[in-house]
Amino acid sequence: MDKKCVCQKTQRHFLDSAFSRLKLKASRQALLLSSFRETRVTVPVTLRHNGENTLHTFQGYRVQHNHARGPFKGGLRFHPDVNLGEVRALAQLMTWKTALVDIPFGGAKGGVAVDPKQLNETELEELSKRFCQKMAPIIGVHEDIPAPDIGTNPQVMGWILDEYSKTHGYRTAVVTGKPMALGGCAGRLEATGHGVAHLADKAAMAMSLIAEQSRVVIQGFGNVGSHAAISLASKGYKIIALSGSRGGVYSEKGIDVGLALAHVRETGALQGLAGTAAVSNAELLELPCEILIPAALEATITCDNADAIQAPLIVEAANIPITHQADQRLQQRAVVIVPDLLANVGGVLASYYEWVQNLQQFPWDRELVLSRLEKRLSRTYDVVRDLAQERKIDMRSAAYELAIGRVDHAIRLRGF
Ligand code: GLU
Repeated sequence: MDKKCVCQKTQRHFLDSAFSRLKLKASRQALLLSSFRETRVTVPVTLRHNGENTLHTFQGYRVQHNHARGPFKGGLRFHPDVNLGEVRALAQLMTWKTALVDIPFGGAKGGVAVDPKQLNETELEELSKRFCQKMAPIIGVHEDIPAPDIGTNPQVMGWILDEYSKTHGYRTAVVTGKPMALGGCAGRLEATGHGVAHLADKAAMAMSLIAEQSRVVIQGFGNVGSHAAISLASKGYKIIALSGSRGGVYSEKGIDVGLALAHVRETGALQGLAGTAAVSNAELLELPCEILIPAALEATITCDNADAIQAPLIVEAANIPITHQADQRLQQRAVVIVPDLLANVGGVLASYYEWVQNLQQFPWDRELVLSRLEKRLSRTYDVVRDLAQERKIDMRSAAYELAIGRVDHAIRLRGF
Protein backbone atom coordinates (compact mmCIF):
# COMPACT_ATOMS: atom_id res chain seq x y z
CA MET A 1 0.00 0.00 0.00
CA ASP A 2 1.39 3.43 -0.79
CA LYS A 3 2.31 5.85 1.94
CA LYS A 4 -0.50 8.34 1.39
CA CYS A 5 -3.09 5.62 2.04
CA VAL A 6 -1.22 4.38 5.11
CA CYS A 7 -1.07 7.88 6.62
CA GLN A 8 -4.70 8.62 5.96
CA LYS A 9 -5.87 5.23 7.22
CA THR A 10 -3.75 5.48 10.36
CA GLN A 11 -4.99 8.96 11.13
CA ARG A 12 -8.59 7.91 10.45
CA HIS A 13 -8.28 4.93 12.75
CA PHE A 14 -7.02 7.06 15.66
CA LEU A 15 -9.78 9.62 15.04
CA ASP A 16 -12.54 7.02 14.81
CA SER A 17 -11.65 5.53 18.17
CA ALA A 18 -11.57 9.02 19.75
CA PHE A 19 -14.93 9.89 18.13
CA SER A 20 -16.59 6.83 19.58
CA ARG A 21 -15.15 7.45 23.06
CA LEU A 22 -16.38 11.08 22.84
CA LYS A 23 -19.77 9.79 21.55
CA LEU A 24 -19.77 12.35 18.72
CA LYS A 25 -22.66 12.23 16.25
CA ALA A 26 -21.83 11.28 12.64
CA SER A 27 -22.62 14.82 11.45
CA ARG A 28 -20.11 16.36 13.87
CA GLN A 29 -17.53 13.73 12.92
CA ALA A 30 -17.98 14.66 9.26
CA LEU A 31 -17.37 18.32 10.08
CA LEU A 32 -14.25 17.53 12.08
CA LEU A 33 -12.88 15.29 9.35
CA SER A 34 -13.38 17.57 6.36
CA SER A 35 -10.90 20.15 5.15
CA PHE A 36 -12.02 23.78 5.05
CA ARG A 37 -10.17 24.29 1.74
CA GLU A 38 -7.77 22.26 -0.40
CA THR A 39 -5.70 24.18 -2.95
CA ARG A 40 -3.57 22.64 -5.66
CA VAL A 41 -1.31 24.78 -7.84
CA THR A 42 1.18 24.27 -10.64
CA VAL A 43 4.58 25.79 -9.92
CA PRO A 44 6.66 26.38 -13.07
CA VAL A 45 10.43 26.77 -12.57
CA THR A 46 13.24 26.99 -15.12
CA LEU A 47 15.95 24.50 -14.16
CA ARG A 48 19.47 24.44 -15.53
CA HIS A 49 20.48 20.91 -16.46
CA ASN A 50 23.59 19.86 -18.42
CA GLY A 51 24.12 23.48 -19.49
CA GLU A 52 20.56 23.87 -20.80
CA ASN A 53 17.53 25.70 -19.41
CA THR A 54 14.39 23.57 -19.21
CA LEU A 55 10.97 24.52 -17.87
CA HIS A 56 9.71 22.14 -15.18
CA THR A 57 6.29 22.15 -13.57
CA PHE A 58 5.87 21.01 -9.99
CA GLN A 59 2.63 20.29 -8.12
CA GLY A 60 2.06 22.32 -4.96
CA TYR A 61 -0.61 21.92 -2.27
CA ARG A 62 -1.99 23.74 0.74
CA VAL A 63 -4.67 22.00 2.77
CA GLN A 64 -6.40 24.21 5.34
CA HIS A 65 -8.12 21.77 7.61
CA ASN A 66 -9.81 23.68 10.42
CA HIS A 67 -9.70 27.23 11.81
CA ALA A 68 -12.28 27.08 14.58
CA ARG A 69 -9.65 28.06 17.19
CA GLY A 70 -7.63 30.57 15.16
CA PRO A 71 -5.78 31.10 11.85
CA PHE A 72 -4.64 28.02 9.93
CA LYS A 73 -1.10 27.01 10.91
CA GLY A 74 1.34 24.41 9.65
CA GLY A 75 4.50 23.60 7.78
CA LEU A 76 5.46 23.55 4.13
CA ARG A 77 7.21 20.43 2.87
CA PHE A 78 9.47 19.97 -0.18
CA HIS A 79 9.74 16.24 -0.88
CA PRO A 80 9.31 14.07 -3.99
CA ASP A 81 6.57 11.95 -2.31
CA VAL A 82 4.33 14.91 -1.43
CA ASN A 83 0.71 14.32 -2.55
CA LEU A 84 -2.71 15.60 -1.62
CA GLY A 85 -3.64 12.63 0.58
CA GLU A 86 -0.52 12.95 2.70
CA VAL A 87 -0.83 16.74 2.99
CA ARG A 88 -4.48 16.33 4.03
CA ALA A 89 -3.59 13.87 6.82
CA LEU A 90 -0.76 16.13 8.02
CA ALA A 91 -3.03 19.23 7.95
CA GLN A 92 -5.51 17.44 10.20
CA LEU A 93 -2.74 16.48 12.56
CA MET A 94 -1.81 20.19 12.86
CA THR A 95 -5.37 20.99 14.00
CA TRP A 96 -5.08 18.44 16.81
CA LYS A 97 -1.56 19.59 17.74
CA THR A 98 -2.44 23.27 18.11
CA ALA A 99 -5.56 22.34 20.09
CA LEU A 100 -3.66 19.94 22.33
CA VAL A 101 -1.03 22.50 23.27
CA ASP A 102 -3.83 25.09 23.51
CA ILE A 103 -2.54 27.83 21.21
CA PRO A 104 -4.95 30.01 19.19
CA PHE A 105 -4.39 28.38 15.81
CA GLY A 106 -6.09 25.87 13.56
CA GLY A 107 -4.34 23.38 11.31
CA ALA A 108 -2.94 23.39 7.76
CA LYS A 109 -0.13 21.85 5.76
CA GLY A 110 1.50 22.57 2.43
CA GLY A 111 3.91 20.85 0.15
CA VAL A 112 5.55 20.74 -3.23
CA ALA A 113 6.37 17.42 -4.90
CA VAL A 114 10.04 18.13 -5.58
CA ASP A 115 13.42 16.80 -4.49
CA PRO A 116 15.04 20.00 -3.15
CA LYS A 117 18.49 18.35 -3.30
CA GLN A 118 18.25 18.38 -7.13
CA LEU A 119 17.78 22.18 -7.26
CA ASN A 120 20.43 24.84 -6.82
CA GLU A 121 19.93 27.87 -4.53
CA THR A 122 18.54 30.14 -7.30
CA GLU A 123 16.10 27.47 -8.48
CA LEU A 124 14.91 26.83 -4.93
CA GLU A 125 14.33 30.56 -4.45
CA GLU A 126 12.31 30.68 -7.67
CA LEU A 127 10.27 27.63 -6.64
CA SER A 128 9.52 29.07 -3.17
CA LYS A 129 8.54 32.48 -4.53
CA ARG A 130 6.36 31.06 -7.33
CA PHE A 131 4.61 28.80 -4.80
CA CYS A 132 4.03 31.82 -2.55
CA GLN A 133 2.69 33.92 -5.48
CA LYS A 134 0.07 31.27 -6.17
CA MET A 135 -0.83 30.77 -2.50
CA ALA A 136 -0.77 34.48 -1.56
CA PRO A 137 -4.58 34.86 -1.79
CA ILE A 138 -5.13 32.22 0.90
CA ILE A 139 -2.23 32.82 3.34
CA GLY A 140 -1.88 35.80 5.68
CA VAL A 141 -0.93 36.94 9.20
CA HIS A 142 -4.44 36.23 10.51
CA GLU A 143 -5.46 33.70 7.84
CA ASP A 144 -2.82 31.01 7.37
CA ILE A 145 0.80 31.04 8.54
CA PRO A 146 3.25 28.56 6.94
CA ALA A 147 6.46 27.32 8.62
CA PRO A 148 9.35 24.96 7.79
CA ASP A 149 8.87 21.20 7.55
CA ILE A 150 10.80 18.38 5.83
CA GLY A 151 12.96 19.78 2.99
CA THR A 152 12.36 23.45 3.86
CA ASN A 153 14.20 25.75 6.27
CA PRO A 154 14.42 29.36 7.53
CA GLN A 155 15.83 30.51 4.16
CA VAL A 156 12.73 29.23 2.34
CA MET A 157 10.59 31.16 4.87
CA GLY A 158 12.68 34.28 4.16
CA TRP A 159 11.91 33.96 0.41
CA ILE A 160 8.20 33.48 1.10
CA LEU A 161 8.16 36.52 3.38
CA ASP A 162 9.82 38.58 0.63
CA GLU A 163 7.37 37.47 -2.06
CA TYR A 164 4.31 37.98 0.13
CA SER A 165 5.53 41.42 1.23
CA LYS A 166 5.75 42.64 -2.39
CA THR A 167 1.97 42.77 -2.59
CA HIS A 168 0.95 43.10 1.08
CA GLY A 169 3.66 45.31 2.65
CA TYR A 170 6.27 43.96 5.08
CA ARG A 171 4.46 41.29 7.13
CA THR A 172 6.94 39.34 9.27
CA ALA A 173 4.17 37.36 10.97
CA VAL A 174 3.01 35.74 7.69
CA VAL A 175 5.50 32.89 8.17
CA THR A 176 7.29 31.45 11.21
CA GLY A 177 10.63 29.67 11.44
CA LYS A 178 12.26 32.63 9.67
CA PRO A 179 15.94 33.57 9.88
CA MET A 180 16.69 35.62 13.02
CA ALA A 181 17.59 38.68 10.91
CA LEU A 182 14.05 38.73 9.47
CA GLY A 183 12.14 38.51 12.75
CA GLY A 184 12.77 34.85 13.51
CA CYS A 185 12.47 33.53 17.06
CA ALA A 186 15.53 32.68 19.15
CA GLY A 187 15.40 28.93 19.83
CA ARG A 188 12.86 28.17 17.02
CA LEU A 189 15.33 26.13 14.98
CA GLU A 190 16.04 23.71 17.83
CA ALA A 191 12.56 23.93 19.44
CA THR A 192 11.08 20.74 17.95
CA GLY A 193 14.09 18.56 18.79
CA HIS A 194 14.51 20.23 22.18
CA GLY A 195 10.84 19.54 22.94
CA VAL A 196 11.18 15.91 21.83
CA ALA A 197 14.13 15.49 24.22
CA HIS A 198 12.30 17.23 27.07
CA LEU A 199 9.29 14.91 26.73
CA ALA A 200 11.45 11.81 26.17
CA ASP A 201 13.21 12.64 29.44
CA LYS A 202 9.88 13.12 31.27
CA ALA A 203 8.54 9.80 29.95
CA ALA A 204 11.80 8.02 30.78
CA MET A 205 11.76 9.34 34.34
CA ALA A 206 8.17 8.12 34.76
CA MET A 207 9.43 4.66 33.74
CA SER A 208 12.31 4.94 36.25
CA LEU A 209 14.89 4.91 33.44
CA ILE A 210 18.17 6.56 34.41
CA ALA A 211 19.63 8.89 31.77
CA GLU A 212 23.23 7.63 32.02
CA GLN A 213 22.10 4.01 31.70
CA SER A 214 19.68 4.60 28.85
CA ARG A 215 20.58 3.94 25.22
CA VAL A 216 18.89 6.10 22.60
CA VAL A 217 18.41 5.30 18.90
CA ILE A 218 17.36 8.12 16.57
CA GLN A 219 16.15 7.53 13.01
CA GLY A 220 16.59 10.77 11.06
CA PHE A 221 19.36 13.30 11.55
CA GLY A 222 17.70 16.36 10.04
CA ASN A 223 16.74 19.43 12.05
CA VAL A 224 14.51 17.55 14.52
CA GLY A 225 16.61 14.39 14.99
CA SER A 226 19.90 16.25 15.36
CA HIS A 227 18.58 18.71 17.95
CA ALA A 228 16.88 15.91 19.88
CA ALA A 229 20.25 14.10 19.91
CA ILE A 230 22.15 17.20 21.12
CA SER A 231 19.61 17.85 23.85
CA LEU A 232 19.39 14.22 25.06
CA ALA A 233 23.19 13.87 25.07
CA SER A 234 23.42 17.01 27.22
CA LYS A 235 21.03 15.37 29.71
CA GLY A 236 23.41 12.38 29.97
CA TYR A 237 21.65 9.87 27.64
CA LYS A 238 23.84 7.60 25.52
CA ILE A 239 23.09 8.01 21.81
CA ILE A 240 24.04 4.63 20.31
CA ALA A 241 22.68 4.95 16.76
CA LEU A 242 21.79 7.71 14.31
CA SER A 243 20.67 7.60 10.70
CA GLY A 244 20.10 9.80 7.69
CA SER A 245 18.35 9.07 4.39
CA ARG A 246 21.38 7.12 3.13
CA GLY A 247 21.72 4.87 6.19
CA GLY A 248 23.06 5.07 9.70
CA VAL A 249 25.87 4.52 12.16
CA TYR A 250 26.02 2.54 15.40
CA SER A 251 28.34 2.45 18.38
CA GLU A 252 27.61 0.51 21.55
CA LYS A 253 29.90 2.86 23.48
CA GLY A 254 27.90 5.90 22.38
CA ILE A 255 28.25 8.47 19.60
CA ASP A 256 29.64 11.95 20.13
CA VAL A 257 26.82 14.03 18.61
CA GLY A 258 29.09 17.05 18.03
CA LEU A 259 31.49 14.90 15.99
CA ALA A 260 28.58 13.38 14.05
CA LEU A 261 27.32 16.86 13.12
CA ALA A 262 30.80 17.95 12.02
CA HIS A 263 31.17 14.76 9.95
CA VAL A 264 27.82 15.38 8.20
CA ARG A 265 28.83 19.00 7.51
CA GLU A 266 32.12 17.84 5.95
CA THR A 267 31.00 14.75 4.03
CA GLY A 268 27.26 15.21 3.60
CA ALA A 269 26.40 11.90 5.36
CA LEU A 270 26.88 9.98 8.63
CA GLN A 271 28.61 7.04 6.94
CA GLY A 272 32.26 6.61 7.85
CA LEU A 273 32.00 8.41 11.21
CA ALA A 274 35.07 7.34 13.24
CA GLY A 275 34.42 4.64 15.87
CA THR A 276 31.06 3.57 14.44
CA ALA A 277 29.76 0.64 12.38
CA ALA A 278 27.35 1.04 9.48
CA VAL A 279 23.71 0.14 10.09
CA SER A 280 20.74 0.32 7.71
CA ASN A 281 17.64 2.35 8.52
CA ALA A 282 15.66 -0.89 8.94
CA GLU A 283 18.24 -2.54 11.24
CA LEU A 284 18.52 0.60 13.35
CA LEU A 285 14.85 0.46 14.42
CA GLU A 286 15.35 -3.04 15.80
CA LEU A 287 18.47 -2.34 17.87
CA PRO A 288 18.33 -3.07 21.61
CA CYS A 289 17.84 0.29 23.36
CA GLU A 290 15.71 2.01 25.99
CA ILE A 291 14.42 4.91 23.85
CA LEU A 292 13.63 4.82 20.13
CA ILE A 293 13.00 8.12 18.36
CA PRO A 294 11.64 7.89 14.81
CA ALA A 295 12.45 11.38 13.47
CA ALA A 296 12.31 10.73 9.72
CA LEU A 297 9.29 10.18 7.48
CA GLU A 298 5.81 8.73 7.99
CA ALA A 299 5.02 5.02 8.39
CA THR A 300 8.51 3.73 9.17
CA ILE A 301 7.16 1.38 11.87
CA THR A 302 4.66 -1.05 10.36
CA CYS A 303 3.42 -4.60 10.98
CA ASP A 304 6.58 -5.82 9.22
CA ASN A 305 8.92 -4.57 11.95
CA ALA A 306 6.73 -3.75 15.00
CA ASP A 307 7.35 -7.10 16.70
CA ALA A 308 11.11 -6.76 16.26
CA ILE A 309 11.29 -3.41 18.05
CA GLN A 310 13.03 -3.77 21.40
CA ALA A 311 12.68 -0.29 22.91
CA PRO A 312 10.23 -0.03 25.84
CA LEU A 313 9.74 3.69 25.04
CA ILE A 314 9.09 5.27 21.62
CA VAL A 315 8.93 9.04 21.21
CA GLU A 316 7.38 10.07 17.86
CA ALA A 317 9.47 13.01 16.68
CA ALA A 318 8.21 12.48 13.10
CA ASN A 319 4.56 12.87 12.14
CA ILE A 320 2.61 9.57 11.85
CA PRO A 321 5.73 7.32 11.99
CA ILE A 322 3.78 4.28 13.30
CA THR A 323 0.86 2.73 11.41
CA HIS A 324 -2.24 1.95 13.46
CA GLN A 325 -1.78 -1.81 13.12
CA ALA A 326 1.82 -1.51 14.35
CA ASP A 327 0.59 0.74 17.16
CA GLN A 328 -1.80 -2.01 18.29
CA ARG A 329 0.99 -4.59 18.33
CA LEU A 330 3.23 -2.29 20.35
CA GLN A 331 0.38 -1.56 22.80
CA GLN A 332 -0.10 -5.30 23.32
CA ARG A 333 3.52 -5.48 24.45
CA ALA A 334 2.98 -2.43 26.72
CA VAL A 335 5.50 -0.31 24.83
CA VAL A 336 5.05 3.30 25.97
CA ILE A 337 4.52 5.69 23.03
CA VAL A 338 4.68 9.46 23.32
CA PRO A 339 2.52 10.29 20.26
CA ASP A 340 3.47 12.73 17.51
CA LEU A 341 0.83 15.32 18.33
CA LEU A 342 2.42 15.67 21.75
CA ALA A 343 6.06 14.70 21.15
CA ASN A 344 6.86 17.12 18.32
CA VAL A 345 4.50 19.94 19.25
CA GLY A 346 7.46 22.07 20.44
CA GLY A 347 7.93 23.24 16.83
CA VAL A 348 4.54 24.82 16.38
CA LEU A 349 4.57 26.06 19.97
CA ALA A 350 7.77 28.02 19.26
CA SER A 351 6.14 29.19 16.00
CA TYR A 352 3.33 30.62 18.10
CA TYR A 353 5.88 32.46 20.27
CA GLU A 354 7.49 33.81 17.07
CA TRP A 355 4.12 35.03 15.74
CA VAL A 356 3.33 36.74 19.06
CA GLN A 357 6.74 38.49 19.06
CA ASN A 358 6.23 39.62 15.43
CA LEU A 359 2.78 41.03 16.18
CA GLN A 360 4.10 42.87 19.23
CA GLN A 361 7.40 43.84 17.57
CA PHE A 362 9.08 42.79 20.82
CA PRO A 363 11.67 39.97 20.66
CA TRP A 364 12.25 37.56 23.54
CA ASP A 365 15.63 36.02 24.35
CA ARG A 366 16.35 32.31 23.85
CA GLU A 367 16.16 31.48 27.57
CA LEU A 368 12.66 32.93 27.82
CA VAL A 369 11.51 31.05 24.69
CA LEU A 370 12.89 27.71 25.87
CA SER A 371 11.72 28.06 29.47
CA ARG A 372 8.16 28.90 28.33
CA LEU A 373 8.35 26.03 25.86
CA GLU A 374 9.43 23.50 28.50
CA LYS A 375 6.82 24.67 30.98
CA ARG A 376 3.97 24.46 28.45
CA LEU A 377 5.14 21.06 27.17
CA SER A 378 5.39 19.66 30.70
CA ARG A 379 1.91 20.91 31.52
CA THR A 380 0.48 19.39 28.32
CA TYR A 381 2.24 16.07 29.00
CA ASP A 382 0.83 15.98 32.56
CA VAL A 383 -2.73 16.65 31.38
CA VAL A 384 -2.45 13.90 28.74
CA ARG A 385 -0.88 11.42 31.19
CA ASP A 386 -3.54 12.13 33.86
CA LEU A 387 -6.38 11.58 31.39
CA ALA A 388 -4.72 8.40 30.11
CA GLN A 389 -4.39 7.06 33.65
CA GLU A 390 -7.92 8.06 34.65
CA ARG A 391 -9.49 6.41 31.58
CA LYS A 392 -7.00 3.51 31.42
CA ILE A 393 -6.12 4.39 27.81
CA ASP A 394 -2.81 5.04 26.06
CA MET A 395 -1.35 8.54 25.70
CA ARG A 396 -2.23 8.81 22.00
CA SER A 397 -5.91 8.12 22.67
CA ALA A 398 -5.90 10.64 25.53
CA ALA A 399 -4.19 13.30 23.40
CA TYR A 400 -6.67 12.85 20.53
CA GLU A 401 -9.59 12.98 22.94
CA LEU A 402 -8.42 16.24 24.48
CA ALA A 403 -7.62 17.87 21.13
CA ILE A 404 -10.80 16.81 19.34
CA GLY A 405 -12.90 17.84 22.36
CA ARG A 406 -11.39 21.35 22.24
CA VAL A 407 -11.92 21.79 18.49
CA ASP A 408 -15.49 20.49 18.71
CA HIS A 409 -16.19 22.86 21.62
CA ALA A 410 -14.89 25.87 19.61
CA ILE A 411 -17.03 24.85 16.62
CA ARG A 412 -20.12 24.67 18.85
CA LEU A 413 -19.39 28.07 20.41
CA ARG A 414 -18.89 29.68 17.00
CA GLY A 415 -21.98 27.99 15.64
CA PHE A 416 -20.47 26.77 12.35
N1 GLU B 1 6.26 21.59 10.50
C1 GLU B 1 6.13 21.59 11.92
C2 GLU B 1 5.09 20.57 12.36
O1 GLU B 1 4.78 19.64 11.64
C3 GLU B 1 5.90 22.97 12.48
C4 GLU B 1 4.66 23.67 11.99
C5 GLU B 1 4.59 25.14 12.39
O2 GLU B 1 5.44 25.61 13.12
O3 GLU B 1 3.62 25.76 11.97
O4 GLU B 1 4.63 20.59 13.47
